[in-house]
Amino acid sequence: MKEISTDVVIIGAGMAGLTAATQLIAAGRDVVVLEARDRVGGRVHSEIHDDCLVEVGGQWIAPDQEKLLALLDGLGLETYSRYREGKNVYVNGSGENRQYEGEIFPASPETESEIVRLIELLDKLSHEIDPAQPWEHPNASEFDSVSFASWLQQQSQDQEARDNIALFVAGAMLTKPSYAFSLLQALMMAASAGGFNELVDPDFILDKRVKGGMHQVPQGLAERVGFENIHLSTDVKSIVTAEGNVTVTAENLSVQAKHVIIALGPHLLTRIDFQPALPSVKQQMAQHLSSGQVIKVQAFYPSAFWREKGLSGTAFSPYQTVHEAYDNTPHDYVGGTLVGFVSDHVADDLYAKDPTERKKAILDSFAAYFGEGALKPTVYYESDWVNEVYTRGAYGTSFDIGGLTRYRDSIRSSVGRIHFACSDIAGIGYTHIDGAIRMGEAAAEAVLA
Ligand SMILES: Cc1cc2nc3c(=O)[nH]c(=O)nc-3n(C[C@H](O)[C@H](O)[C@H](O)COP(=O)(O)OP(=O)(O)OC[C@H]3O[C@@H](n4cnc5c(N)ncnc54)[C@H](O)[C@@H]3O)c2cc1C
Repeated sequence: MKEISTDVVIIGAGMAGLTAATQLIAAGRDVVVLEARDRVGGRVHSEIHDDCLVEVGGQWIAPDQEKLLALLDGLGLETYSRYREGKNVYVNGSGENRQYEGEIFPASPETESEIVRLIELLDKLSHEIDPAQPWEHPNASEFDSVSFASWLQQQSQDQEARDNIALFVAGAMLTKPSYAFSLLQALMMAASAGGFNELVDPDFILDKRVKGGMHQVPQGLAERVGFENIHLSTDVKSIVTAEGNVTVTAENLSVQAKHVIIALGPHLLTRIDFQPALPSVKQQMAQHLSSGQVIKVQAFYPSAFWREKGLSGTAFSPYQTVHEAYDNTPHDYVGGTLVGFVSDHVADDLYAKDPTERKKAILDSFAAYFGEGALKPTVYYESDWVNEVYTRGAYGTSFDIGGLTRYRDSIRSSVGRIHFACSDIAGIGYTHIDGAIRMGEAAAEAVLA
């Protein structure tokens, strides 16, 4: 087994780990990064399929994601806006296709005003929440003990309004059913994105993309770290702390360091053998954070046929297989691209089908929004993050009911020389690239303190 000594060993070459590495190198520390996959970037990844660049993971940037915007600037990467001209589409529970402008889905006047009322209420509550410490809210225990679905039921008799409000956080963000997480987790999600109003506004939350793909960001960071300091295909199995040092071991490599930063999804901590064991409450915490499930589907067409019909490509429905869809045409692509998302139990049901049936169900759903032109893409790609052993779901992890308040002190706390970084333990930018950068910086600061 090869043995290396360094100042800091970082596990995971996603955005959090690579950010921590660049910060520590800038502070004069020697750093070794160990990455299980044969590539850097983690949940930020692109692939080429039939000559089309497919951004399989994180791709969008909101205007308030200052850390990510600053990093793009530093790396000399340019952005472009998501296409949003024309009308959006909403498909209601009876399958009616309704085109609309503005933010509120076209339903009956009563349902529309109920949706507006619930958004205002949730926006107000989300502004009372500090996303880094949601447990400090005076009603945190109460908010963390009720599911988002039950709370919505207490607030409104209008099922269509409830279904749509639930969608913003459940299917669209945490990618779990709204009965599986608490009101506090929902409010924290909204607060981390700037508030509930921002969360429901696709023009804000899905504002811009990187020309040439988001994968260039981790690639650029890895170049700053130096590929000679990054060991790919190195799946860390154990971490031993003894005599003021930490020894991190993978199959063929052992690294001794003064500090370790674990920069991976907190639910994956259970794959690593710690000696001495992590505090029991931290181990429990890792088991109460679980991944959501979403299939990101991209379909490429010879032309953006929906634009020709005056449609923006933005579509929503809590009643469709694809609960949200957008025009995802890359800035330099001659045709048109749609992206759609299939979440939580709907995705479970689709995974029970064979791939041909699954594709048909998804394209039928695109067609319900945009017409029959959607049925015959030239290139079609479905992401599958659940079967990625070093991620196990998408977009990120969230607590089950009561977890946020119960594990409040363990979420970001270091354990001796062991520090933690990941978008999934972020306050601002929670489960987003911006949050991964913030947590990478915080872990580097903890090492340097
Ligand atoms: C489909 C999808 C769409 C998304 N869309 C957006 C978006 O539009 N905008 C946005 O801001 N965010 C988006 N996100 C979320 C964003 O991509 C993530 O929040 C962010 O990239 C997480 O970075 P991270 O470094 O914290 O974790 P990760 O990217 O998960 O990095 C962890 C790294 O650790 C490695 N690893 C795991 N276990 C081990 C081990 N035992 N030993 C060594 N290495 C290990 C993994 O391989 C991985 O490289 C999306 C995510 C997905 C999946």
